[in-house]
Amino acid sequence: MIVAVRMRPLSKKEIEREEFEIIRVMDKKLVILMDPLELLNAKGTLGRNRSKEKQYAFDFAFDQDTPQKEIFENTTRHLVEGILEGYNATVFAYGATGAGKTYTMLGTESNPGNMFLTLQELFIKLKEQKNNYNYDIRVSFLEIYNEMIRDLIVVSDEVLDLREDKDKGITVAGLSEVEVDSPQDVMELLFFGNQNRTQEATGANETSSRSHAILQIIVEAKDKASGTTAEIAVGKLSLIDLAGSERAAKTNNRGIRMIEGANINRSLLSLGNCINALVDNMKKGSKNHIPYRDSKLTRLLKDSLGGNSRTVMIANISPGNDSYEDTHNTLKYANRAKNIKTSVKKNVHNVEYHVSKYTNIINQLKSEVSTL
Ligand code: ADP
Ligand code: MG
Repeated sequence: MIVAVRMRPLSKKEIEREEFEIIRVMDKKLVILMDPLELLNAKGTLGRNRSKEKQYAFDFAFDQDTPQKEIFENTTRHLVEGILEGYNATVFAYGATGAGKTYTMLGTESNPGNMFLTLQELFIKLKEQKNNYNYDIRVSFLEIYNEMIRDLIVVSDEVLDLREDKDKGITVAGLSEVEVDSPQDVMELLFFGNQNRTQEATGANETSSRSHAILQIIVEAKDKASGTTAEIAVGKLSLIDLAGSERAAKTNNRGIRMIEGANINRSLLSLGNCINALVDNMKKGSKNHIPYRDSKLTRLLKDSLGGNSRTVMIANISPGNDSYEDTHNTLKYANRAKNIKTSVKKNVHNVEYHVSKYTNIINQLKSEVSTL
């Protein structure tokens, strides 16, 4: 797993509150976390106490001035080619509420993030290859909120279920898949979908995001030269904006909020448990059971963590002293994830696989018609 850390700038509010920075990013790889109390004590006197600093090294560390494009180019761009060839990949943004996850993945309309930049790159690559291959691109966008899966593209209260399919792996039954033809199509879809996310006020943040949002891009590629016997490569890219990782204790949750808190922790906790078990197995060569089945998120991500997917984690952190605890936790979490290795293989299906899929659909429709 490639692990990157991104620090956002101090916000206006944090500057008004006279927060100070406790993070240094160095050499595009190192993150140094300083103890806020030590920094305060050292002001104007002895200089800071190095022994209280914590240092972490990552594949990439991005400071507050790093543009969206640079994040994309270093973390995600290299995955696009693989998707066209039938490999799976996953990129997820981790971090406390307000640390910059949504900014990194979705971004703003004037400054779009990883999701849009990925699709833009995909369309560029497709144009280059269109003489040799037929491509089909579909996207789906869902959220997991309170351990319930909802479609973000087709708005409905319906709760969707996970299915395990022999050929396709884990899928979400009834989830809409939309064919997209241009980056503009995608832009509208993303911002529309994001507005449909469940957001509620909590003690920690006015619009704390308590849901995990998952964009999946599925690309089917068929070599034009190979005629009707061709194999079809199916690549799947999952781009994930996780719910806030802050501890429930900090948010003064009560009642329903408390239940939600427990569920968010359940998915994130179980993500952490899976990461720990995987790291243990890799370091010690042990064969611990990986508890993927403990939450919806980890079931969906099963293939991405220890399995058949190139995986990137972008850990988002705030630079201010008030965020010390959250930032420390995020850095420890990301540091552990560095040890996970995945092994990828191409997903290829022959045309018969697709023909049989459509034959089934046609038979089903026929039987529906005959019962009318
Ligand atoms: P999260 O999704 O982790 O809760 P957001 O992405 O919503 O956090 O970020 C919180 C605020 O900080 C938003 O107003 C966002 O625009 C701003 N922000 C986050 N990251 C950056 C960045 N790298 N540069 C500038 N502003 C940022
Ligand atoms: Mg968010």
